[in-house]
Order: sequence, then structure tokens, then C-alpha cells
Amino acid sequence: MVEFDQNADTVSVEHTECQGTDYGKRTPESDPRTAERVRAKFLVGCDGGRSIVRTNLGIDMTGTSFPERWLVVDLKAKDGVDAFRHLPYFNFVCDPELPSVSCPQPGGHHRFEFMLHDAQTKEEMEDPETVRRHISRYVDPDEVEVLRKLVYTFNAVVADRWRVGRILIAGDAAHMTPQFIGQGMNSGVRDADNLSWKLTAIIKHGASQSILNSYETERRPHAKAMIDLSVFMKSFVSLRNPLAASARNIAITTALRVPGLGGWIRSAKVKPVPRFRRDAYLGLPRRRWWGLEGTLAPQPDVRTYNGRHQRFDDALGLGFSVLGYGVDPRSVLDDDAQLFLRMLGARFVTVYPLGGRPQGEPGDARATGDDYIDIEDHTGALCRWFAKAGLCVGGVAVLRPDRYLFGTATGPGANALVGDLVRRLNLPTIRPVPDIRSDGNGDESVAAAPSDHLEEAR
Ligand SMILES: Cc1cc2nc3c(=O)[nH]c(=O)nc-3n(C[C@H](O)[C@H](O)[C@H](O)COP(=O)(O)OP(=O)(O)OC[C@H]3O[C@@H](n4cnc5c(N)ncnc54)[C@H](O)[C@@H]3O)c2cc1C
Repeated sequence: MVEFDQNADTVSVEHTECQGTDYGKRTPESDPRTAERVRAKFLVGCDGGRSIVRTNLGIDMTGTSFPERWLVVDLKAKDGVDAFRHLPYFNFVCDPELPSVSCPQPGGHHRFEFMLHDAQTKEEMEDPETVRRHISRYVDPDEVEVLRKLVYTFNAVVADRWRVGRILIAGDAAHMTPQFIGQGMNSGVRDADNLSWKLTAIIKHGASQSILNSYETERRPHAKAMIDLSVFMKSFVSLRNPLAASARNIAITTALRVPGLGGWIRSAKVKPVPRFRRDAYLGLPRRRWWGLEGTLAPQPDVRTYNGRHQRFDDALGLGFSVLGYGVDPRSVLDDDAQLFLRMLGARFVTVYPLGGRPQGEPGDARATGDDYIDIEDHTGALCRWFAKAGLCVGGVAVLRPDRYLFGTATGPGANALVGDLVRRLNLPTIRPVPDIRSDGNGDESVAAAPSDHLEEAR
């Protein structure tokens, strides 16, 4: 992408073919003969830490850039060798002489990170002999192949704004996380998950652009919390002062021996849980501080009607889900509510407790179409979650496409819950009177005649 601009209705982007930079080793060369201009409703800049989308929009990043250099070495075991089996799953090696991080990677690969001393040069550290010497502390260097060796510094920064009108930024363009807890890419995936269904709701279902305001308010605090934890882990592992290092070692050894606390630390429960800040998310407000609205639903294994095991996520598919606890949610929703939900592409789901599924007859609810499934919660995780959310059998919960809880209701309250969903998405169908408004961020929500979408859904 070479340049872009936007007006009230679209974004226009010019792009050309380009050779790329090969991890910053060369200047990118674009070929102007291949230049094209395209128009789109929105532009999402997922163009990395040096994002030109972000810089061209004049958005600054706030945080800290650290001068410490680390050497990252990615390894692959040679064919037929089990080279990493003896290594702990994820290990922060708190050695003042050579602070290191050891962590498994996808595909059976393994990564080591070593902190450099001030006197060590990049060339010296990336030298194959130095790499060999360092990794031989943990693995047999003859049993592995070095896939990547790279000296880098890191940033712990967040962009001051994540959206300007129809242009948004996501991933490293919006926040850069030191890699110590391996969450940089994860944060970017969470951004995409958050943004994609909101863009779909706007483009496909006519929701108001104002729902994009919740993108940053929902994502920023969690991305920042991951960055803060990552910086803490970096400081924790890289103490070089022998006294401070001894104090740290005593503290962590003691903490690991405390029942409960030790397991909590070992299983990385210290990682911030995704829980949107009160009043800063798209969903019903939490009625109590421990409420589950604006938090992520669990992801247990469930049993489908034909006895197969599936992850809950896979069973739900894409889009909104309306869960009925031991009840077909359609049976407590009126026609209009069902119509709105179908228009959104929602799926109706009955969650039965273990052993609670009726045998059923051919032609029963399970055979009535793609938008309905029933599942058995054989682990009990979903029933516990319902109980925590204050729901008994017969209750209904609406999950957003990114699996955050929008809200819950019981009995006739289910229709009001759907009404709330429609209102919070600012769908034109909920307002019978034409109404144009703007929130100063280019957000306009134009109310149309209510029948448009109903007709489409019918
Ligand atoms: C050493 C190291 C180890 C890491 N380890 C982990 C880990 O274990 N786990 C983890 O979750 N994260 C890890 N990360 C972080 C992770 O790599 C990043 O968070 C992630 O790659 C960010 O993804 P992104 O798509 O936002 O940006 P990038 O991966 O940087 O992708 C941006 C893309 O945009 C393209 N682009 C840039 N400008 C333009 C333009 N003008 N036009 C068109 N295309 C453009 C680039 O070519 C690139 O393909 C690590 C990072 C480092 C440096």
C-alpha cells in the first residue's frame, strides 16, 4: 500500500507490487507500473510496528522502547531426533550471567532468547559459533537445526488512537508487546476477532459505525495489560545485580511452594483475563461486579446430537449465538425477535446438562435447519458458567460472535434482551422514525424504514 485517503463514505487506497524488506534488511522497492487504486468501505491497517497507516494518520505511540538487546534463536529438531523432550514447557532462566527464556513453538520447534551484555555486538552474537555455545547449555547442538537467529530490541508501546473515521489500526500497528510471554501475535488476533464481526454488522446488516467506538475501549486495556506483564517478566528474568537476583530467587522459590499460589504461577494464571471494563463495551452492563457480561465464555468440549465431540467454539460456528439452558431458545422468543436474530445470521443453541438430552424423534427441533443445534455439556463447564451468570434452566444467553457474553435473560425477558442487542448495534430496524446523527467521529447512523431488513430476513 502506497497511500490512502478517506471521505464520509469510503476509503481509497493505492497499492503496487513490492518486494518487501526481508525483516528490515533492505529498502522496499515498489513497482509504480503495477499501481492500482481501490475503494473500500473501511481500511484496517495491520501493517506492523512501522505501520504507514498509523504514521500517515499522525497517530503517536505512547510507552517505552527498551535498549536491552536479546538474541532470539529458533530451533528445529533434526529428523528422527527428540531434541527438546527434556526441556520444561516454558522456562524463564533467572541466571544473572545469562538471563534466558526457553519456550516451545508451533510445529514442535523451540525458541531460546538470551540477553546480551552491553559489550557484545550484534555480529558476535549472531555468529554461528556463539549461537552454538549458547544453545548447548540446554540442547545438543548437533541434534538441532537453527531456523533463525536474530538480535533485537523491543518496544512496549500503544497507539494513542486506534481509529480515525473509516480507518482503523490493529495488531502491532496498534500495540507492540515485548515477546517474553509470547502474546504479541495473540493480541493482534484478538483485535481481528473484535473488529471483524463489528465490520460485518455494519457492512452486511446496516449497524451504525458508532459500534466501532467499542473496538478500542474493549481491546486497549487488555493489550496494555499484556504489555505490562511482558515488561514485568523481562525485568524479572533479567536482573543482573546479584543481591536483587538472590532476593528474587528466594521470593519465587517460596511462592512456588505455597499451595494454590504455586500452581497459579506455574499455570500462568497471572496472565490478564479478557474482561471488558465496565461501561466500556458493547453489551448489557454488568449488574454486579462479578457479572459475566463483557467476559469471554468458556471453551469446553461438548457432545453433539450424533455423539461426536467438538470444541464449543466449533459447534457454534461463526456469528451470534443464542444459548438456551436446557431449552430451545426459539421457544421463549417471539417472531420478531427470532427474525432479527436470523437476519444477523445468529445460531440458536440448546445446551443440555450431562444426561439431560431427550431422545427425540425424527423431525424434532434438531432437524429444523442450519440455524439450530443442540449440544450436551458433558464436562459441566457450561452449566457452571450459566449458574455463575445467574441463569437457571430455561434461561437464555446471547453470545457475540467473538464469544463475549452480550447479556442474559429469563422467561419473557428474552425478547427484551434481543431488543437491547438490536439497539446496541444501532440497527436501523429498531427505530421507526428516520433519524440521522453524528458523534463527531464520522459516525452516522441512518434510520431506515423498519421493514427493509424484516423483508430481507423473511
Ligand atoms: C523475536 C520475536 C519473537 C516473537 N514471538 C512471539 C510469540 O512467540 N508469540 C506471539 O504471539 N508473538 C510473538 N512476537 C510478536 C509477533 O511477531 C507480532 O506481534 C506479530 O507478528 C504482529 O502481527 P501483525 O500482523 O500485526 O504485524 P506483522 O507481523 O509485522 O505484519 C505486518 C505485515 O504488513 C506488511 N506491510 C507493512 N507495510 C505495508 C504496506 N505499506 N503495504 C502492504 N503491506 C505492508 C508487512 O510486510 C507484513 O507482512 C514476536 C516478535 C518478535 C520480534
